[in-house]
Amino acid sequence: MTESPIPPNEQERLRALEKYDILDTLPEREFDNLTRLASYITGSPIALISLLDEHRQWFKSRIGLQAAETPRNISFCQHAIMSNELFEVPDAMSDRRFRKNPLVTEDPNIRFYAGYPLQTSEGHNLGTLCVIDNQPKALTEEQRQMMRYLAEATISLIEARKTNQDLANAIRYKNEFLSNVSHEIRTPMNAILGFSELLQRTNLTEEQTTHLEAISSAANNLLVVINDILDLSKNEAGSLELRLAPMEPRQVIKHTIQLISQMAFEKRLNLRCIIAPSIPEQVMGDAARLNQIVLNLLGNALKFTQKGSISVRLECLDQTDHDIFLRLSVEDTGPGIPPENLERIFQRFEQGNEEHDRKTLGTGLGLAIVRMLVELHSGTTWAESEVGKGATFFCTLRYPLVDPSSKPENTPAETMKDDHTTPSLGDVRILLAEDNILNQKLATFALKKLGVELVIANHGQETLDLLQEQTFDLILMDLEMPVLDGYQTSRIIREEMGLDIPIIACTAHVLAEEKERCEAIGMDGFITKPYKPDVLGKEISRVLADVS
Ligand code: ADP
Repeated sequence: MTESPIPPNEQERLRALEKYDILDTLPEREFDNLTRLASYITGSPIALISLLDEHRQWFKSRIGLQAAETPRNISFCQHAIMSNELFEVPDAMSDRRFRKNPLVTEDPNIRFYAGYPLQTSEGHNLGTLCVIDNQPKALTEEQRQMMRYLAEATISLIEARKTNQDLANAIRYKNEFLSNVSHEIRTPMNAILGFSELLQRTNLTEEQTTHLEAISSAANNLLVVINDILDLSKNEAGSLELRLAPMEPRQVIKHTIQLISQMAFEKRLNLRCIIAPSIPEQVMGDAARLNQIVLNLLGNALKFTQKGSISVRLECLDQTDHDIFLRLSVEDTGPGIPPENLERIFQRFEQGNEEHDRKTLGTGLGLAIVRMLVELHSGTTWAESEVGKGATFFCTLRYPLVDPSSKPENTPAETMKDDHTTPSLGDVRILLAEDNILNQKLATFALKKLGVELVIANHGQETLDLLQEQTFDLILMDLEMPVLDGYQTSRIIREEMGLDIPIIACTAHVLAEEKERCEAIGMDGFITKPYKPDVLGKEISRVLADVS
C-alpha cells in the first residue's frame, strides 16, 4: 500500500464538505436513484456516492454494499478525488497501490474500481460517484461518459439540497425574527392599550377623551398590522392552520357587520346583508378567520366608499353529504379598481389606485391575508369592478358540515364581547411574576379594581423564593423573564416543589405551540398580551373556578 494522497486544498475542502451538512444524514431516494443508474449502466454490482472527511469515506448512497463507511486511508476514492477525471483501476490485483489493500484481499474483494470526482462549483472534490466489481474489467467510452453525467447530476443534487436547506433556514430565521420583533412591540403595546382603557374609565374632558380614543385606535391598528405580518410569516412556514369547530356563519357575518355599522352610519352609507336561506345554521369552521376575511373586505369597502352602499352576500354554491361550498361577496359603490390592477392588489404590499390610496391609510396586506385565508379554506378570491361605479370582491369557501353530535363554539360576538362586567374577585392573593415595570403597573391597576391583593416578583427565582415564604391563590406568570423564565419557573413549581397552585401564563407571543407548551408543563390558563383588564379578570375567575 502507498502513502495516503492528500489534496493540496484539503483544509478548505473539508470546510466545504462540512458546509454542505450532508455527512451522516439519512438515505435519500434521489441519491439512491443515481447510484442505481450507475450500477445498471456499468453492469457493476456495487455503486456508491462516497464523501471523504478527515478520517473516513462515508456513503450517502450505496448499492450492493453493507458497510456505511470505511477508513479513508484504505479507500480507492482518496485517489479518485486527486484528479478531475474518471479514476479507473481495471484490476486491483495487478496494481501495486491496491493489491495488498484489505478491501481487495478481503470483503468486498474489489478487483475493478471506477470513480468520478464530485466537484463543487468552487472546485472542491467532496468525494466520488463510483462503481465497483469483483471481476477485473474496463468501461466502454460510452459508460465513462455516462459516469461523468451521473457525477455531475450528483453534485447538482448536493448543491440543490444545500440551497433548499439555506432557504428553509432563512425562512426559519425570518419567522423567529418576526416573532421576536412582534413580541417586543406587543409588550409596550400591552401597556399603551391597558392604560388607555383604565384612563377611559376616569373622568375626562371631551378633548382628553378624543385624544385617548386616537391613542387606542392607533395602537389597535398597529396591533392588526403586527398580527397580519405574523399570520403571513406563519403561513409561509406552513404553520398556519384553521381551528375548526362548530360555527354559525350567519352569526359571524352579522357580528362583523355590526362592528363597522357605526362607521357606515357616520358616512351615511347603506349597509346591506343578504344571507341565502339555504346556508346551514352551523358548519365546521374557524369563526375568527371568517371574521377576519369579512372584516378585511368590509373595512376596504368602508374605507374607499364615500357615498352609496355596501352589500355583503353569502350564497351556497354547492353541497355534498360532507361539505358545503359558499360564496361570499362584498360589493361597494366606491371609486372602483382599474382592470389592470384587479389581480395585483391581492399581492402583499400592493396598492391599486395611487390617487385614492394616498388619502387612505393602509399597508397593502389586507387582501393578501384574505387570499391566504381563503386558500386555507380550499377557495379562490377575485375582484370585479367598473372604475367610477364600484367594486365587488368575491371568495369561495369550503366548510365541512357539522357532525350533529358536537356542540357549537362561541361566535366571535360572544368571545369578543367586552361587557366590563367582571365581578370583583374578592379575597384573593395573587403573585405576579413579571419583569417589565410598565406591565407590573398595568396589572396592579387592573387587579386593584378587582379587589385582589397583589405581590410582585421581578423574575422567576424571586417567584420561587416568595412561594417558599408565603401562600398565594394564583400566579400570573410572564413567560419571558430574566434569570428563570416562566416555563422553567412553572416546571420547578410543579415538579420540584410539587405545588398545584393555579398558574396563568402571560405572553406577548401568539404562537399556538406556546399555549400547548404551557399546558404540557401544567399551567392552568393562558392570556396573550396586550390584554384588557376585563379579559385578565375573567381568565382569573375562570381558572379559580376550575380548580375550586
Ligand atoms: P390596504 O391596506 O392598502 O387597503 P389591501 O390589500 O386591503 O391593502 O388593498 C390593496 C389595494 O386594493 C388598496 O390599496 C386599494 O388600492 C385596492 N382596494 C381594495 N379594496 C378596494 C375597494 N373596495 N375599492 C377600491 N379599491 C380597493
